[in-house]
Amino acid sequence: MKTKILLIGIDGLILRTAIDSGRAPTLTALKDAGHFSEFTMAVPTLSGPGWSTLLTGSTHAEHAVKDNNFNGHNLLHRPDLLSRAFYQDQSTTTFAAAGWPPLVDPVGVGPVIHERREQQRAERHRVIVRDGETYGYKLIDSEIAEAAVYAVSKAGPDVNFVYFCDADESGHTHGVVGEHYVDAIGRIDSYVSRLHAAVTSRAKELGEEWLMVLTTDHGHVDEGGHGYGSDQERASFVIAAGVGRANPTWPEQFEPENLVELLLAERA
Ligand SMILES: [Zn+2]
Repeated sequence: MKTKILLIGIDGLILRTAIDSGRAPTLTALKDAGHFSEFTMAVPTLSGPGWSTLLTGSTHAEHAVKDNNFNGHNLLHRPDLLSRAFYQDQSTTTFAAAGWPPLVDPVGVGPVIHERREQQRAERHRVIVRDGETYGYKLIDSEIAEAAVYAVSKAGPDVNFVYFCDADESGHTHGVVGEHYVDAIGRIDSYVSRLHAAVTSRAKELGEEWLMVLTTDHGHVDEGGHGYGSDQERASFVIAAGVGRANPTWPEQFEPENLVELLLAERA
């Protein structure tokens, strides 16, 4: 049986702050239990180029996403993790849920996750699109979490991407020092906890092997904001915890654009 993958993207997360706050017990436990690598995101440290790199295994030059407008992007030639897993094995079922439209909404400027309408009609690919930019991520992340917990519990797709942006939004509004940012991190941690429980119970009851993977696209400066080259803006990480299987034997040091290849190799 092939490993199932649950990749959780937490936008604008400063992991050190999350752990030191004591408000992220699930993230902390997964970091301690799993494989852990730190890496440095390329500049500009913006969500568009950052997630495009992490989700398509491409450098900024390769995906040509320069900012959050996505003008002139090359994403049609740089298929995402879910698409590549499907092309690698066409029995693969995939699921994506995100509240930032450029990641998933085919009507918008991306999307980074390809629509693959034929696979949606065949019920091999499902995409949950929400709009946190309009309705706020505190609400929208909770909807994404509900949908993702339900999908993972009931259907258990083979390769999943679930995205949260409450912490990033809070960082932009209030900065990353103080209660607001860690409050948002606490909410996201509770979603990760529920997803972890869903995966754990599938592993126990169905004998499935899961890899739970967490990463971020950039940090923030203390007063909130990102895009430039400070260490705190460029810092990212990967946590990869096996559930019902061992942790992956990945190199301690690798680049953000290598993550997709490492994940696909787990399904080879
Ligand atoms: Zn971002």
